[in-house]
This record gives sequence, structure tokens and C-alpha cells, in this order.
Amino acid sequence: MTLADDGAAVGLCARCRHARVIHSDRGTIFYLCKRSETDPRFPRYPRLPVLSCVGYEEKEESAGSGQSAKAG
Ligand code: SF4
Repeated sequence: MTLADDGAAVGLCARCRHARVIHSDRGTIFYLCKRSETDPRFPRYPRLPVLSCVGYEEKEESAGSGQSAKAG
């Protein structure tokens, strides 16, 4: 099982715009919370699955809709 393929194992981070997927050399996948860089309430590497998070914001999907996501 890979975490990237299993949203249930990851929880909210799998769909959060603040999450970055980190692939280690050993094939392990981590989720880095970008909010941790500016807000100490958030761990850099959240313990998964994250089932509840005040910082969660759903990431915008751009599956051929022609819309571009605005950063920031
Ligand atoms: S804000 Fe919460 S849900 Fe989003 S990446 Fe950080 S820990 Fe995960």
C-alpha cells in the first residue's frame, strides 16, 4: 500500500492544499504540512491519518477544466 493511493490512510492531508508529498529514497511517502512553516500549531509531518484539522483547505482540482489555481 502506498499512502498516495490510499486517501483513507492519509486522511485530510490527501486533499489539502497545504500538503506536500515527500518521497524518501526508501520508497516511503511523507506528507509535509506547509502550514507548519508559518504556524507552530501544525506539525511539519502530521501523524496520519489526519481526521480533523483546523487548517484544512480543500485543494482545487484542475482536471481539464481550463481554470488555473491561484496561489497564495
Ligand atoms: S493543514 Fe492540516 S490537513 Fe492540511 S496539510 Fe496541514 S495537517 Fe494536513
